[in-house]
Amino acid sequence: MNKTIAIIKGDGIGPEIVNEAMGVLDAVAARFGHTFTYVDAPMGGNAIDAFGVPLPDSSLETCLNADSVLLGAVGGPKWDDQPSANRLERGLLKLRGAMGLYTNVRPARMFSELSDACPLRADIAARGIDFVVVRELIGGVYFGEHRTGESGGEQKATDIMSYTEHEIRRVAHVAFQMAQKRRKRVTSIDKANVLDTSRLWRKTVTEVAKEYPDVELLHMYVDNAAMQIVRDPSQFDVIVTENLFGDILSDEASQITGSIGMIPSSSMGEGTRGLYEPIHGSAPDIAGQDKANPIGTILAAAMMLRYSFDMAAEADAIEAAVDETLKAGIRCGDIMRQGCTLVGCREMGAQIRCRI
Ligand code: NAD
Repeated sequence: MNKTIAIIKGDGIGPEIVNEAMGVLDAVAARFGHTFTYVDAPMGGNAIDAFGVPLPDSSLETCLNADSVLLGAVGGPKWDDQPSANRLERGLLKLRGAMGLYTNVRPARMFSELSDACPLRADIAARGIDFVVVRELIGGVYFGEHRTGESGGEQKATDIMSYTEHEIRRVAHVAFQMAQKRRKRVTSIDKANVLDTSRLWRKTVTEVAKEYPDVELLHMYVDNAAMQIVRDPSQFDVIVTENLFGDILSDEASQITGSIGMIPSSSMGEGTRGLYEPIHGSAPDIAGQDKANPIGTILAAAMMLRYSFDMAAEADAIEAAVDETLKAGIRCGDIMRQGCTLVGCREMGAQIRCRI
């Protein structure tokens, strides 16, 4: 297969980690007989320096014309004081909006070799952590009306939370289809005992479930879910939830697995094109020092193969290579343990590449 991938290296450690992910993709292309063509799409602080804006139109076009997009990370102290129209988040939101990305998927998976980095009790960690959080990304209270005014002599603020059936339905389909490729269990999380949006959420997800008779559906209130994620994360396969709950629960989920440098994320819309990135930022404190852990970005590339290109065996090959590298005791600084071998970003990439 021939695929064109828009590459946003970004700032800080972005270029270092993306280079290693591209190296791993090249190894996959060689082993499986594919051709991946990379097209650079400058975005972030470097784009402000070169073009005066965080996301030049030419970069947006590159992304919209590509089969998928791989992003390192953007930002850094140098660009913190940009005027609001030029803030880096604007570039990211513009890209997400233009690509129509309404679903964010974040896996929470603990590598058995890194179980000592898990903050949960050993007997809980021993049951394993391997689930994904599917979060609605462009609806709910974050995108509702925000208002601050006066009422009865004091300030009053209001944020409107709304959902339509179609906004719920499309993200539910993503969750059920993902569950079909996994352990076939969806837990839908809401606050249906209090919120109308949640009651519509629950009703709509239940309707969508009828199209997926092979997938089990459970409903859970968000307060209980926040407890269950730390009490027994092994019960979850695919979690689906609205924007605000998903923002909070996906951060909780990534914390229980260990290092921030290990976790990928994908954002999808209609069709197969997605935006794939690690969950961490540009780590300016270690940028340019060959210290960054590239595994989050490499696993984001694996997600791209699995979900955008339907290349399950190729994605498995990357995930197995990461597993084997960790089993061999190879570690970057952020996941270093006594008795292991400390390597830099480039060497970690090379170690994973040679195991593809
Ligand atoms: P960060 O995630 O960049 O770093 C937090 C800590 O984790 C740092 O100590 C860093 O060294 C470490 N770390 C992060 N990724 C690592 C990796 N791959 N390997 C080893 N260590 C790693 O968060 P921050 O310091 O709050 O933000 C730095 C910049 O990144 C800011 O400008 C912020 O706006 C931006 N940011 C960008 C994105 C994005 O591009 N999607 C996301 C979050 C933050």
